Amino acid sequence: MEEQVQDMSGGNHAFFQLLGSVNNTNIDLVDNTLLQDLSLLSVPNQNGLLPIQVAANRGYSPLIQLLAKHGADIEVTTKDGKTPVMLACQSGSLYAVHAFNQCGSNMISRDSYGRTLMHYAATVGAVHTMHYLHVNCNLAYDAKDNDDYTPLHLAVWNSHMQCVTYLLKNGRCGDVNAANVYGTTPLAVAAKNGSRSIARHLILSSKKNLLLSKDGNGMTPVQHALHGGTDKFKEFALQMSLWTTEQLTAGRSLMPSYDTLTWYFVFFLPGSALTLAAVLFTLIPYLSVSIPLALAIVIFGFFAPLNNHRLPTDSGLQNPAPMGAFLAGLTITVICYFTLVWPRLWPDNWYWFIIIAFDYIGIIYLFWKLEYTDPGFEYVGKRSEDGRPLTIVDVAGQERGSGIQYSFCTECEIVIPEMAKHCKLCSRCCNNFDHHCLWLKMCIGANNHHTFVIFLFLLSLDNFLFVRGGCSILALLSGTYDPWVFLKYAMVHEKFLIFLMLCNFLTGLFGMMNLLYQLSIISAKETTYFDSKGLAAFGRKRDRQKLSVVTRLRNIKTFFFNGRHKKQEFSSNTFMV
Ligand SMILES: [Zn+2]
Ligand SMILES: [Zn+2]
Repeated sequence: MEEQVQDMSGGNHAFFQLLGSVNNTNIDLVDNTLLQDLSLLSVPNQNGLLPIQVAANRGYSPLIQLLAKHGADIEVTTKDGKTPVMLACQSGSLYAVHAFNQCGSNMISRDSYGRTLMHYAATVGAVHTMHYLHVNCNLAYDAKDNDDYTPLHLAVWNSHMQCVTYLLKNGRCGDVNAANVYGTTPLAVAAKNGSRSIARHLILSSKKNLLLSKDGNGMTPVQHALHGGTDKFKEFALQMSLWTTEQLTAGRSLMPSYDTLTWYFVFFLPGSALTLAAVLFTLIPYLSVSIPLALAIVIFGFFAPLNNHRLPTDSGLQNPAPMGAFLAGLTITVICYFTLVWPRLWPDNWYWFIIIAFDYIGIIYLFWKLEYTDPGFEYVGKRSEDGRPLTIVDVAGQERGSGIQYSFCTECEIVIPEMAKHCKLCSRCCNNFDHHCLWLKMCIGANNHHTFVIFLFLLSLDNFLFVRGGCSILALLSGTYDPWVFLKYAMVHEKFLIFLMLCNFLTGLFGMMNLLYQLSIISAKETTYFDSKGLAAFGRKRDRQKLSVVTRLRNIKTFFFNGRHKKQEFSSNTFMV
């Protein structure tokens, strides 16, 4: 060890090698080396970079703090006037930027092009750093450099969608269409780059018709896009005017826009496919034709549209197909039960009707409840021990390597609490996040997890009761309880009923499997998202096997009795502020 340290101080090359690879376990080595020879701090490497600049480029905060402690010059600039904190911004590390701020770096400095730290953060799409710079250092989102480039220009230039969204939110970036000294607007940059979603975002976020604005060379964004030459660029140019129409008519037009029509089409697709399959299966007398045909329609019209989370169109709206499928399935079953099954069994087996009627009432009530209650969205964020909501500064100053790392949600602008997750489809952080249910178009979390599980139970019960009712009818009509005989009878005389029974049976099976899975994770005080693996991220890995049956049953009881696991059971006090 002693020898190694001397070797380090003996040669600069070795010292820079150490700086390039140092981590939490051997950072003392740098400390010892510097204690022996402080002059190392002012000797550059072969690229002309000083140790503090190398540390900034790496974005490794403990090293930055250490070098600054030993007196490294934290305001030293490169040829183009970049300070070390600018290099740290460029590295994308919020921790490194915070470390420089803590050491007293000048956070409002500009390089020789007049660029601020905000410009540097926007160039690499470091949204967390941008938020930090504004909240903690009062840096402007709409700062202009010597050529009037704004952070928005640079974010668009480098296609950082999340960063563009952040800058456009709440009018942060000021004028969306601010041009630089060459007359180039952010939209012109997006048009030249062919950045479709960014261009759409820019157009929709402005009240003006941005397509009419010409740049310094007298070119409109559409002309810039057409300049791209390829068919893709031509289509993009055409699309831009469509978005402008959408933006100009939003809220005023009675005609649904092209995306609304797509939404309704996809919403009704699964239900229509199911109905069509049922009708064709019933009407076509040849099984060798009707079965493959019905199967193909169900696969392509019912299952295929369920696959995506979002519509494949520019708006990226949430895919309504699963909810459409769910509601269609429920509606078809209810109608068929009360027209096909009930009248033919009444008044015998009356108790089944009572049960199924209550089941339907329960399903509709819980569906309404799930749709209209807050699933447990978080609005304040994680708090410190004295109850103060944590901020991005607390996140930036976290002890590294402590095992528990909290992150900041730039969309909700809160520190994400333990067991919470940001749902991109709901655009909110949800506590005790289980999953985002596409069938209900709703997050399942702290407030509605128990409702969801009961809902799942009632749905499966409904499916099996329908099958049970169908069996009674077939037995009655065929005059036998021999399943093979009445199945043969059904395939000739009651094909529509048997189709529905099959659908209900499969859905019921699917629901039951989900229900069992839910009970297993609830009994371990987990959620679908934060299962043993997810909890391990918080340094609290639980071994499912070790839980006794009694513990599991008690956990399930607590879950239903309290509506959820108590929040404090999940929160950890190990995070010091
Ligand atoms: Zn969030
Ligand atoms: Zn959600």
